[in-house]
Amino acid sequence: MTSTVCQIVWFGGLVAWFIIRYPFERRAKKVRVIKSLFGWRESGLLALAFVGLFIIPLIYALSGFPASLDRPVVPAIAILGVATLCAALLLFYRSHADLGRNWSISLELRNEHRLVTTGIYRIIRHPMYSSFFLLALAQIMLVPNWFAGASGLLGVGILYAFRIRQEERMMLERFGADYERYMAHTARLIPWI
Ligand code: SAH
Repeated sequence: MTSTVCQIVWFGGLVAWFIIRYPFERRAKKVRVIKSLFGWRESGLLALAFVGLFIIPLIYALSGFPASLDRPVVPAIAILGVATLCAALLLFYRSHADLGRNWSISLELRNEHRLVTTGIYRIIRHPMYSSFFLLALAQIMLVPNWFAGASGLLGVGILYAFRIRQEERMMLERFGADYERYMAHTARLIPWI
């Protein structure tokens, strides 16, 4: 696989990501939001992830910058990257399907918000964030530049680090003992860890 093919696969994966999300986003938006923590902080975190996953690889694809940080394409790693990308998209789809109308791009509670503990949520509490990390790993393997490859992991890592406690605190306030019990027998990102 050449560098160009790898990058086409990467951007194809991002297009698939938006296509998967679109119908779920439309459906969820029909349900009224009753509590929202959306603000400057959340917008900044989401923007950082977007820049890391999309804007920086796009600048690299169009200009080759920063060429000094290019690395050779290793076919075995590129193939592993394609497999990781497929796994990320599958998990991304699964988490949307299981979360249904309780989904939000930010930290929000919707009218009649239901605590989902079934499907993929039976094993891990944050499968969508797991899928983001898989996506960022696929980027490292597919974009053959140390900076443009790793920028997604940086963006996703910062989003996750600054969001996760706030999200779990919000869920605990809303669902109390039910969420505590749920936390006791699930892992955050990686099953059984
Ligand atoms: N952190 C989850 C969900 C991300 S979407 C994941 O990674 O899969 C963010 C929204 O999902 C939050 O606003 C929160 O209200 C909602 N949410 C998170 N976990 C939930 C659960 N187990 N049941 C219902 N809603 C949940």
